[in-house]
Amino acid sequence: MVSYKELGLVNTREMFAKAIKGGYAIPAFNFNNMEQLQAIIKAAAETKSPVILQVSKGARNYANQTLLRYMAQGAVEYAKELGWEHPQICLHLDHGDSFELCKSCVDFGFSSVMIDASSLPYEENIALTKKVVEYAHQFDVTVEAELGVLAGVEDEVSSAVSHYTKPEEVVDFATRTGCDSLAISIGTSHGAYKFTPEQCTRDPKTGRLVPPPLAFDVLDAIMEQLPGFPIVLHGSSSVPQEYVDMINKYGGKLPDAVGIPEEQLRKAAKSAVCKINIDSDSRLAFTAAVRKVFAEKPGEFDPRKYCGPARDLMEELYKHKIINVLGSDGKAE
Ligand SMILES: [Zn+2]
Repeated sequence: MVSYKELGLVNTREMFAKAIKGGYAIPAFNFNNMEQLQAIIKAAAETKSPVILQVSKGARNYANQTLLRYMAQGAVEYAKELGWEHPQICLHLDHGDSFELCKSCVDFGFSSVMIDASSLPYEENIALTKKVVEYAHQFDVTVEAELGVLAGVEDEVSSAVSHYTKPEEVVDFATRTGCDSLAISIGTSHGAYKFTPEQCTRDPKTGRLVPPPLAFDVLDAIMEQLPGFPIVLHGSSSVPQEYVDMINKYGGKLPDAVGIPEEQLRKAAKSAVCKINIDSDSRLAFTAAVRKVFAEKPGEFDPRKYCGPARDLMEELYKHKIINVLGSDGKAE
């Protein structure tokens, strides 16, 4: 058993409470390798933003659980080295699908876990979430749960259709499970293809797809039911067209990739939405930078020469999200 407190990490309780009061959101960036982690920590340290390092089940298998723990601990020390006196860094399990996985993460130094039982019938979702909460809270680990179903594909999580969260269920769910935050479905979606072209309209000038707006009426109804309760948005990458264009220009093939417009996320960040998950955007930045180097310098075979530019582009992306979209800069001095 390793406590996250020994690693210098924090849970989400205080950062969420401050974010709701302050009208901003905490970035939750997924990572599975060193370059992503370096870019996230540099961006967070330089902007003094609280940050959630997020690891899916697939990423945990990819990186190895023991190595991950030391990477998170190293991230805290690296942040201090960069001049961030009191780093607010959380290590969070994204989409935990069983009690055993959540328990294992709690036991291995995670400061927060998500139990995603949203695909189960309502009562089973409550029972499993409650079991995880009871275990995690013994160690002051915070728990995110989910109600409603997001469309899209993310690692082993996928669904063809979305079902909005039902506002009439949220009080009962939050009360009976004791969860610390709630991921909801209001039209965000996993992956780089959040909407089919049929669901979108086309900008007549650019020919780009314009996605349908998020269901802010559902968000409002949820906030009315659960005033001041931390709400989480998954699948909130914006799929920046500059990265998609770069990937396509240098030999990639991502036709009609489309994400959530940043102005909608900006609006959400000002509400009780206090955690916004961003994964695909950094994958796109990484891939775009690597493809560019490969296309322009076919003789290059030193991984530092293409992972380095990828790291720089991701850092730029993370800072942009923190400062211009979520508004979390300067919130963890
Ligand atoms: Zn998700």
